[in-house]
Parts: sequence; structure tokens; C-alpha cells
Amino acid sequence: MIQNIGVVGAGQMGNGIAHVAALAGYNVRLSDISQAQLDKAVGLIRKNLERQAKKGMIPEADIAATLARISTTTDLNFPDADVVIEAATEDEAVKKQIFAKICPSLKPEAILCSNTSSISITRLGASTDRPGRFMGMHFMNPVPVMQLVELIRGIATDEDTFREIREMTERLGKTPTSAEDFPAFIVNRILLPMINEAIYTLYEGVGSVDSIDTAMRLGANHPMGPLELADFIGLDTCLAIMHVLHDGLADTKYRPCPLLVKYVEAGWLGRKTGRGFYDYSGEKPVPTR
Ligand code: NAD
Repeated sequence: MIQNIGVVGAGQMGNGIAHVAALAGYNVRLSDISQAQLDKAVGLIRKNLERQAKKGMIPEADIAATLARISTTTDLNFPDADVVIEAATEDEAVKKQIFAKICPSLKPEAILCSNTSSISITRLGASTDRPGRFMGMHFMNPVPVMQLVELIRGIATDEDTFREIREMTERLGKTPTSAEDFPAFIVNRILLPMINEAIYTLYEGVGSVDSIDTAMRLGANHPMGPLELADFIGLDTCLAIMHVLHDGLADTKYRPCPLLVKYVEAGWLGRKTGRGFYDYSGEKPVPTR
């Protein structure tokens, strides 16, 4: 029975995963290298729970009970965990280092999952001491709101691991869908080339930030424009996924737009740094081009 969940990385995704897991009744140990990031994450979880209670989605009493189930740490020891979900920076070397540090502390039967948006689950799993108990669990952003979790088997993932994680996903109130272990799986294989094309459209001067986002919101009925969405995902994450598609599928149609590369080089990573295709320093986001 899964009771204790470890979450590594307290960024946008990690805090959302900790939120939904604790709300569903699991004990959560949230880890990050940065104490400031952990403090920020817990503050954000509180704010998001309060918002859910105000909307009548959860009882008021669940706020304190959920927060009481979350503990934080800057180390990578998870001796009590039944499952650890890694949601650190989208960088294969970083993730492999994290697994190397976590594994010696884990129970032999503990399951290790990665929330990677694009990196090969088979390759990540092979770097650990438990490829059979390793799989991909790809949550969508923002986690408390989005319904889907893509479940990805590596070639070595055993059937029990997949079944236990599928059941846990359902207990989290999410809908699982199964994707094979190919670069960027299903959602990002389709979504990211669209976002990259939107950035090319801006780069080539076909439209401004506002005209591109308005066109896709009103013309294709997307709830958010592609550039707004890119800022929301994080431009570093978008670029990392395009690299994985380009390298993994060896097709020039996945070439990252040079403008996306330049924004990442400038440290303009979207909402999380206050600037991307929009400037977030004021009351309302302002297009930058
Ligand atoms: P983020 O930059 O908001 O957070 C990453 C966190 O990882 C940071 O808090 C950082 O301090 C922490 N970290 C880095 N190295 C660490 C280490 N060695 N040990 C512990 N913590 C460490 O990024 P994010 O958007 O939350 O993305 C995290 C993962 O989730 C990535 O793999 C990404 O591809 C995936 N993902 C992102 C989205 C999205 O829309 N942003 C959606 C689905 C999946």
C-alpha cells in the first residue's frame, strides 16, 4: 500500500504534485536544494488550497490537514517512501545525479518515478538500481487544476509497478493515459512543435506577441495563446524539450527557434523569472514584442 510519497524538486511542478498528493491523504516529503524554494512552495500550496476552499472545491478543514501531511527537506534521503516522484530541472545529468543519491536510501520495493517532460524513461531507469520499479509519471501544469497524468513505461518497467502507479494516479483524482517511451511522449510531442512554430512566427515578423496569441485563442479556440503558454511552462523547459525532440527523432522540423534560444540565454524564462514573451513586473502581463 502506498502511503508515503517523496517529491524531489519544489518548483512549479513539485509544489503542485506535493499539493495533490497531500490533499489525497498521502504523507509527502518535499525536497529541494534550495530552502528558499521549499518555503516558497509551501506558501504557494497554502494559497492554492485556500483558493480551492473559497471556491467550495474542498472543505476548509482540509487546508490545515493537508499542510500537516507535508514535510520539507534539503537532503535526498527517503527511507520511508513507497514512491518518490522526481520533478527537478529538465536536465538528464541533474536527474541522474539525484537518482544516484536517492537510491541507496530507498526501500528495495520503493518505486521511483520521473516527471520528465521528454527524457527517455528507459535511459533514466537504466541509470538506477531499479529499472523494473522505475517509470514516467508526467503531470500537467498547473497540477492541482489539470486532469491528465501521462504514464510512461520504460522497456524494463514491470507490470506491478505500472498497475500500482495507475491506481495511485486515480487516487490523486487524476485521469491516467498511457504513452510509449518515445521522445516527449504524447502531449509535448504535439504541443511543443506548435509553441516552437509560434516563436518562429514571431521571429519572422509574421505577427506580434499579441496578434499570435489572440489569433490562436480566438481562431483555434485555445484557452491560452502559445506564447502565453510558453511563458507559463518556462522557456528553459520548452527549449530542453525541443532539444530532446531534435536529438531523439533526428528531424529538422524540431529545430528550436533561435529566438527561443536567445530568450533562454538572456535568462528570460517566462513567468517564473518575471519576463519572457510578456513582462510580468506590473499588474498585468505586457507583451514584449
Ligand atoms: P522549476 O524550474 O520550476 O523547478 C525545478 C526545481 O528543481 C527547482 O526548485 C530546483 O531548485 C530544483 N532542483 C534542481 N536540482 C535539484 C537537485 N539536485 N535536488 C533537488 N532539487 C533540485 O521546473 P518545473 O517546471 O517544476 O519542472 C520540473 C520537471 O517537471 C522537469 O522535468 C519538467 O520537464 C517537468 N514538467 C514541467 C512542466 C511545466 O509545464 N513546467 C510540465 C510537466 C512536467
